[in-house]
Amino acid sequence: MQFDTPYYLIDEQRLSKNLKKIQWLKENAGVKSVLALKCFSTWPVFELMSQYMDGTTSSSLYEARLGYEEFGKEVHAYSVAFSKDEITELKQYADKIIFNSISQLKTFYSKINHLDIGLRLNPQVSYSDYDLADPARKHSRLGVTNYSSVLDIANLINGVMFHYNCENANFNNFSTLLDAISDTYSDLLFQLNWVSLGGGIYFTLDDYPLEKFSQKLKAFGEYFNIQVYLEPGEAVITNSVSLVTSVLDIVHNELDIAIVDSSIEAHMLDLLTYRESAVMKAPSFKKYYYMIAGKSCLAADIFGQFHFNSPLKVGDKIHIIDAGGYTMVKMNWFNGLRMPSIVIKRLNGDYEQVKNFDYHDFKQNLGCAAFLQ
Ligand SMILES: *Cc1c(COP(=O)(O)O)cnc(C)c1O
Repeated sequence: MQFDTPYYLIDEQRLSKNLKKIQWLKENAGVKSVLALKCFSTWPVFELMSQYMDGTTSSSLYEARLGYEEFGKEVHAYSVAFSKDEITELKQYADKIIFNSISQLKTFYSKINHLDIGLRLNPQVSYSDYDLADPARKHSRLGVTNYSSVLDIANLINGVMFHYNCENANFNNFSTLLDAISDTYSDLLFQLNWVSLGGGIYFTLDDYPLEKFSQKLKAFGEYFNIQVYLEPGEAVITNSVSLVTSVLDIVHNELDIAIVDSSIEAHMLDLLTYRESAVMKAPSFKKYYYMIAGKSCLAADIFGQFHFNSPLKVGDKIHIIDAGGYTMVKMNWFNGLRMPSIVIKRLNGDYEQVKNFDYHDFKQNLGCAAFLQ
């Protein structure tokens, strides 16, 4: 199949591998999983995902609406802060509303007390390699820290959400933190119907001890007689999406630099934010070495440095793997670069292009003739 680069390629076969682990976890541990839309919102694959998952969770009104319209099943709505108008509209979409603070809970309680109501707690312990993404960082506004004030309003809520992991692939660490939460919050957990343990747990990776993870969650759920939820984002789509680019030029400055028709700032922003390298399939020989760089004018628009089996030339395709999480949802029009189109390789092997961008999308994004005098 030939598509113009750049494009994101979503492979449903690979996606299914992760989804089957999520389903297995539900069958074995009774744990429900809702997709964190802030990581991945590419709804043309929701039909597949919704066969294995229990619904979606959101960080905003628009995400909640998308989950309701395109995914179905349970719609969990969380936001760091809701406005009054958002709450009014949310009532049409959400099954559960999870507040970030007791003040928001009290402000909106009378409007939504026919729904399932939750509160985000901040356990003040976390796993994160990045201060930027650490929910337990100093002065964090993410979730309630004062436990006794939560016990005072416990009768108003049905559940709580803890999101305290970021890229956590270490089961022992997960297990220790869960024990800490069980100890600290046991009085509350015994009174509730559900608890969400958030996202950030890399349980779909090949070497993750899924069996132990399952036993741990099952024991936790049974002990408190509570429905356990996970809110995976990255773990759902890991290793199932690539970004396909083409080499446009090769320049030399101490090393060979291949410039491709994409950009980390515009199309894989997290690489820049967290100063990480993109990932490529390892070559069989480590013979030719290049820096792969983007075509924006940002000096540090660099995917990384990689070995190749043969010398690169203009027109060669460069496949950046594991490019599904926090990429399509964060695309932007910096430098006026055309956004990568979105292609899905369906389960039956057919390729389908579901989105293509052009100049009009760029222009419309910043103004619309209908508003001009
Ligand atoms: C970001 C986030 C998630 C998803 O995190 P991943 O690392 O993508 O699994 C889940 N829940 C909440 C509250 C989040 O903020």
